[in-house]
Amino acid sequence: MSKKIVVIPGDGIGGEITDAATAVLRKAAQKHSIDLEFETHHAGGAAIDLYGIPLPDSTIEAARQADAVLLGAVGGPKWDNVAPDIRPEKAILGLRKALGLYANLRPVRVPASLSEYSPLKPEIVSDTDVLIVRELTGGIYFGEKCEATVVDGVEQAWDIEVYSVPEVTRIVALACQAAKLRRGKVVSVDKANVLASSRLWRRTADKVAQDHADVELSHMYVDNCAMQLALAPKNFDVIVTSNLFGDILSDEAAVLGGSIGMMPSASMGEGTGLYEPIHGSAPDIAGKGIANPIGTILSAAMLLRHSLNEEAAAASIESAVDKVLAEGYRTADLYRAGLTKVSTGEMTRLIENNI
Ligand code: NAD
Repeated sequence: MSKKIVVIPGDGIGGEITDAATAVLRKAAQKHSIDLEFETHHAGGAAIDLYGIPLPDSTIEAARQADAVLLGAVGGPKWDNVAPDIRPEKAILGLRKALGLYANLRPVRVPASLSEYSPLKPEIVSDTDVLIVRELTGGIYFGEKCEATVVDGVEQAWDIEVYSVPEVTRIVALACQAAKLRRGKVVSVDKANVLASSRLWRRTADKVAQDHADVELSHMYVDNCAMQLALAPKNFDVIVTSNLFGDILSDEAAVLGGSIGMMPSASMGEGTGLYEPIHGSAPDIAGKGIANPIGTILSAAMLLRHSLNEEAAAASIESAVDKVLAEGYRTADLYRAGLTKVSTGEMTRLIENNI
């Protein structure tokens, strides 16, 4: 039976990078006998131009019916002055909500060939392979808040962090499942020495781990985790954490690789999974054929792994990317003397040819 992928190019370089990723997906599907069907829909600025809103119902409905969604990026200066309630970025939040996506997965792999781009020493960062699983729909970002109140003549504001057992259970279970496809180690990150919500998180994580005997669960305080990511990133396999801590740690981890154009992500939950690079629509380079397509191509590999259960095809894309990089091919963002500069299209063909 064929699997339906909804492709949402979005804006800026979105069309160039989703074209690249679908070409690579087609090649991997052909090699691994997977029947894929692609359908393009609009969101972000492109949808504002076409329909007057950033996320039309037709896109939501198609995404709900699909096996997975591949997204480029949305936004750009053209839509900077639209009304706040129809800003292009609303499309991403709307899709996450419509698809019940409660987990954000951000892998950071630093092959030896890319370690020179890292702000860390090559011997520390080389061969890092960590997956950060961030809770996406709960915690302090969605808790009750007060913008300003006056207590005893002093102005205050507050935000409440709330987590329930079911919320923690599902995200830790998802992290354990992901670890089984990797090295089987999960570090649950919290601040249980100070926060009640973290103590519930930790208790619940321990309970979930009892159902995953083949996964080794340990705990780490978030301040220590922030240090360990910079000191010894290779020691991590999977990190699972709350919305707030995950927001910060995933950006810290993303810079280990030294390039925003290389980083993929997945958002998963109750419905269809959503796969997109972590970067934006890069309007400054749009249409020039120089965007790095690898973040989106690696997002497509995650799509095969997590939504279609096609591990071999996913791994074939990742090895092809590693091989092309090891051979010294680079798009303009990563080019240095002595390497071979290639366009978006050339990089895509090289990766396809190595699958
Ligand atoms: P950006 O990530 O688009 O670009 C930052 C810098 O990185 C730019 O110099 C850009 O050229 C470069 N860059 C990004 N991706 C690249 C790639 N694949 N290859 C080569 N170079 C790349 O961030 P920004 O400039 O702050 O935002 C531009 C627009 O994107 C804004 O409208 C913003 O709101 C939007 N945005 C969208 C998303 C999303 O769709 N998920 C995320 C972040 C920003």
